[in-house]
Amino acid sequence: MSDPAEENPSPPQAAAGKRVVVIGGGLAGLAAASALSSRGMSVTVLESRPRLGGRASSIVDRDTGETIDNCQHVAMGCCTSFRSFCEDTGCSDLFETQRELYFVGPPGQAKVVRFAASSLPAPLHLASSFMKMPWFTLGEKWQIASGLRALAKDRTKTDRSFQDWLDGQRQSETVQRRFWHLVLVSALSESLDRISLHHARKVFVDGFLASHDGWQVSIPTVPLDDVYGTRISAALRMHGVDIRVKAGVRRLLIDGGGISGVEMRDGTEIFADEFVLAVPHNLVKSMLPDDCAECSDVVSLDRLESAPIASMHLWYDQPLTELPHATFVDRLSQWMFNRTVLSSASPLLDRSPHSKGVTEDDGGCRLQVVISAAHDLSAMSEQEVVAKVDSELREVWPDSHRARLIHGRMITEHRAVFSPLPGVDEFRSVQQSPISNLQFAGDWTRTGWPATMEGAVRSGYLAAENILARAGRPDTVVATDLAPARLYRLLFS
Ligand SMILES: Cc1cc2nc3c(=O)[nH]c(=O)nc-3n(C[C@H](O)[C@H](O)[C@H](O)COP(=O)(O)OP(=O)(O)OC[C@H]3O[C@@H](n4cnc5c(N)ncnc54)[C@H](O)[C@@H]3O)c2cc1C
Repeated sequence: MSDPAEENPSPPQAAAGKRVVVIGGGLAGLAAASALSSRGMSVTVLESRPRLGGRASSIVDRDTGETIDNCQHVAMGCCTSFRSFCEDTGCSDLFETQRELYFVGPPGQAKVVRFAASSLPAPLHLASSFMKMPWFTLGEKWQIASGLRALAKDRTKTDRSFQDWLDGQRQSETVQRRFWHLVLVSALSESLDRISLHHARKVFVDGFLASHDGWQVSIPTVPLDDVYGTRISAALRMHGVDIRVKAGVRRLLIDGGGISGVEMRDGTEIFADEFVLAVPHNLVKSMLPDDCAECSDVVSLDRLESAPIASMHLWYDQPLTELPHATFVDRLSQWMFNRTVLSSASPLLDRSPHSKGVTEDDGGCRLQVVISAAHDLSAMSEQEVVAKVDSELREVWPDSHRARLIHGRMITEHRAVFSPLPGVDEFRSVQQSPISNLQFAGDWTRTGWPATMEGAVRSGYLAAENILARAGRPDTVVATDLAPARLYRLLFS
C-alpha cells in the first residue's frame, strides 16, 4: 500500500490541496493533471505504458533507429483549449502554425493550389483561395457555396447522417467526393454516411466559416514523444505532479459511497480523495465497481464504434518536394507531412538525437502520409499500400523519378478515434460519473467535440472544473472559443 502524498513530497502550495489520482497519461489525463496541479492540488498520474501521450505518441523504427510518430497529429486554430494546454505546459514552441495549406488536384490535374486567408472577414476570408481550385467548375463552386450557407444556417436539433443531409442539398457526386468527403474524412476519420450532421457542421463552422483563423493548422516540429513525453512531463513535474509510467491500474476500490483508491496490476493500492479515470472508453467498464459499471452512462459506451487511421512513413534518398505538407484530392493518400522540412524548424534540432533523421544527414527526406477512415486498407498488404502511396507521390512530383525509396512502413491504429455516427453524443458520458469523487475524462466523454486532442484536453479540463467545484474552489479551466466574426453573425445568427 502506498500514499502518493507521502511517497512524493509535494511543493508547499499543494500540501493544503486535495490528493488526486489520474489514471491514464494521454492528453485528457495530462490536461486534468496540469489544471489541478497548477491550482494547488497534489496530483499523481498513473500510466500503464512506459511513456506518456496515449494515442499521440512515437515509436522507434527498428530498421532506421529513428523516432517516428504513430501518426502525425495536427490541431486546428479553433482548438483553443489544446492551445492553452500547450501554453500552460510550455510546449507551444514545438509547433509550427501553417498559414498556408497546399491542395494537390486530382490525378491528371495535379496542380498545387496555395490556400490562404485573404483580409476579408469570415466567412469570406477563404473564398478567393477556393475560387482558384481548377478541378471544380464554376457550377460546382456555386454548389459548394450554397451547401456551406445551408449548413451554417441549419440548426436542427435532430441528428442524421451527413450523407443524408447532403443528398437533400443537390450536391453532385464529384462535389461530395472532392470537397465534403476530402475535408471531413481527415477531420473525423469516417465516410460521409457514417458522420453525424452535427459533427460535420461543427468542423465547417468552427474551422472554416465562423472565424478568420480557425482553419489554420499547427503541426509539431518534433516527434510527439518530445512534446508529451519529455517537455510536458517536465512541466508537470515542476508543478509537483508525481508521474508514474509502467503503472497499470487494475481497478478502482469503493468504500461506502465513494472511491477510496486504486488497485494496481502489481497488487499495491494507492489512496486519494478524488479520481480521474482517463483511459480509452472500451476499458472503463472493467475498471469500475460493479454497481457503477452497470449504470446507463457506462453501459452506453459499448455502443461507441471505432475508426482506423493508417500512416505511411517513407524514407527517400533525395527530397521529393520542399512543401511542408500537402492535401491530395481523389487519391488513396490524403495528407502528406514532410517531416524533413517540418523538423528543420525544430527548436530542439541541435539537442535532440531524434529530431533529425538518418536520411536527412545524407540529403534524403522522410515523408509521412496519412489515410484516415482506413477501413478498406485491411484488404491490402503493407507493401501494396506503400507502393500505391509511393506511386501517387511520384505522379504528383514527377521530377522525383530518380529518388529512391529506401524504406517504407505502415502503422495502423485500429481504434484510432470513435466514429462520429449520427446520435453518437447520446452514448458519450459526461465527466461527472455516478460516483461523486470519480470523474471520467477522455475524448469519448461529452465535450461537444469529436475525437481529437482538443476533445481530450477539454474533457480533462471539465473533469478538473468538477473537482475544483467539489473542493469549494470553482474555476473556469476550459478556454473560450474563437469569437465568431461580426459578418458571420450577421449572416447566420
Ligand atoms: C492515428 C491517429 C491519428 C490522430 N490524428 C489526430 C490529429 O491529427 N488531430 C487530433 O486532434 N487528434 C488526432 N487523433 C486523436 C487523438 O490522438 C485522441 O483524440 C487523443 O489523443 C485522445 O486522448 P485521451 O487522453 O482521451 O486518450 P488516450 O490517448 O487513449 O489515453 C489513454 C491513456 O490511458 C492509458 N491506460 C489505459 N489503461 C490503463 C490502465 N489500466 N492504467 C493506467 N493507464 C492506462 C493508455 O495507455 C493511454 O496512455 C488521432 C488519433 C490516432 C490514433
